[in-house]
Order: sequence, then structure tokens, then C-alpha cells
Amino acid sequence: MANIVIKTTLEKIDKMKNYYGPYLKDKTPSGGVFSARKGGCTITAYRSGKVVFQGAGNEEEAKKWGSMGHKSAAPKPVKASGTPLPENISMMSVIGSDEVGKGDYFGPLAVVATYVKKEQIPLLKELGVKDSKNLTDGQIIAIAKDLLTFIPYSSLKLDNKKYNKVQSAGMTQGKITALLHNRAILNLLEKIAPEKPDAILIDQFAKASTYFRHLKEQEKVQKEKVCFSTKAESIHLAVAAASILARYSFLQAMAQLSKEAGFPLPKGAGPIVDAAAARLIQEKGLVCLPGFAKIHFANTGKAKKIAGIS
Ligand code: MN
Repeated sequence: MANIVIKTTLEKIDKMKNYYGPYLKDKTPSGGVFSARKGGCTITAYRSGKVVFQGAGNEEEAKKWGSMGHKSAAPKPVKASGTPLPENISMMSVIGSDEVGKGDYFGPLAVVATYVKKEQIPLLKELGVKDSKNLTDGQIIAIAKDLLTFIPYSSLKLDNKKYNKVQSAGMTQGKITALLHNRAILNLLEKIAPEKPDAILIDQFAKASTYFRHLKEQEKVQKEKVCFSTKAESIHLAVAAASILARYSFLQAMAQLSKEAGFPLPKGAGPIVDAAAARLIQEKGLVCLPGFAKIHFANTGKAKKIAGIS
């Protein structure tokens, strides 16, 4: 059955809360004003002014409060072991976490978590923080330098040598990424303590259940308040800021590696990358590659072929 959502004023929500007094539930979801269950219908009102009517008789119930209601396609799916996104998460104080370098043959894997308080959201907008995919390298560097002066963050970088070592020992890239996110979040929580974020949002790279499975044998795993979303940069600026800082860290590493290579190393994993890797092999020998690249990528084989050594 489709949910019905109406948008109303907090005043009216107060009235509703009174009306549903006898039916109020003990628990209110995060961001909620009240939750009630009347017959088969669950009514949940949020501070954003949204009221959701779910279940049997929801149409009649919603009608009492105005005709502005519309049916939403389907209830938000609740992920197996992840917390569902709080209703008004974009207005909350949030730790956001994102990674860069997973699809790049050259360069490290960088993960950054940042903490953005709700009062700082307008400032971040002012500074031009948005989805890093829509920013040039120059913009990334400028914004990152601003952010680094006042945003609490944890920045982790797994260089190519270490990456290749753990990867060749059998750890998947997904697991490596999960470990880095968990560590960055724990570091940052420690940094901002005793303050606590309202939510922790990870830009989704795996299912929540997979993420927590990767962390199973870790001593300390942050589970509380952790939620996932794809395109999380557009849900909260903390993730956008994290993605900018991660990209900045990655760019710095690429500049250093290019210096060591003696020519600019390209991003990504396309044919230009194969050619650059072949050039590295020809000029410095195959043995240098693990210091520059993620050698389990198919690019290694292609580069060897181009360099004429396979
Ligand atoms: Mn991401």
C-alpha cells in the first residue's frame, strides 16, 4: 500500500499530536515529532513538517488533515543492517565519509571523514562545497585549503606499496575500503569527543550488510548512527566535504608520484593509463610498478604487453 505524505506546519503537527494522544508510540524516529498507531495506520510527523501515513485506513486518516497529501511510490527500504536515513538528515550535524582512488590504477586509496555541524552548512555552501565530481582540480584544491582550516576531519591514505601488499595477501578492495572508512570515522569521533554527531553517513560503496561483514574481526567497529546512501554528497555537505578532501589528498599523492615517474601520471584506468604504465616499465623496470599502481588491475597485463615483456 502506498504511503501518503502531507506537508504541513509545526503548529498543525502539534494539534495532530494532541489528537493522536491516546495512540502515541513510545518511540519516535530521529527527526520525528511524534509517531502514533491508530488501528492499522501508523502516523509519523517530522520536524521538517512532513507527516507520513502508512498502512490500512491511511487515506481516511490523512484526509482529516488536509487535501495536500500525495501518494509516495513506495516506503523507503530499510537496509539489512544499516540504519535508515533520518528524515531531515541534510539539516543535522553529520560525519560524512567518502573515498577516492578505487577506480584509479595509479595512486593511493584515500578515505576522508569530516564533521560538519548544522550551523556550518551555510558557510560550506558559501565556500562552494558540492559534489566533487562537478568541480575542477583547481577548485578542489582551493576549497580543500579553506576546509582544512576549520573542519574536523580524519584523512587516511593507503599508498600503493601497502595497498598491493594487503591486496595480494587476499584482502578484497571492498574490505580495504571498509576498514579505512571505519578507521577514519573512529578517529574523527575521538577527535570531536565529547561532541557527538546526529548521524554518520557513508557514501555507499557496498551493501550495509557487506560493509559490516568486512569489519567482523575488527576490534572496534562504529555501528551506531551509521547509515549509507548512494550519491550521499547531495544528501549532506559533510560527505561532499569529505569527497573534496579525499580528492585533494589523492591529487597531492598523484603530483608526488608523477614527480617520481618523471612525467604526469593519468587518472582512471583507460588506455592512456596502459600507455603510461608501459612507459614506466620501459624506463624504470617492472619492479617499480608496485610503488605507483594498483597492480591487480587489468592495466598491468595490458601495459606489459605494450612494453613487450609478456
Ligand atoms: Mn564515493
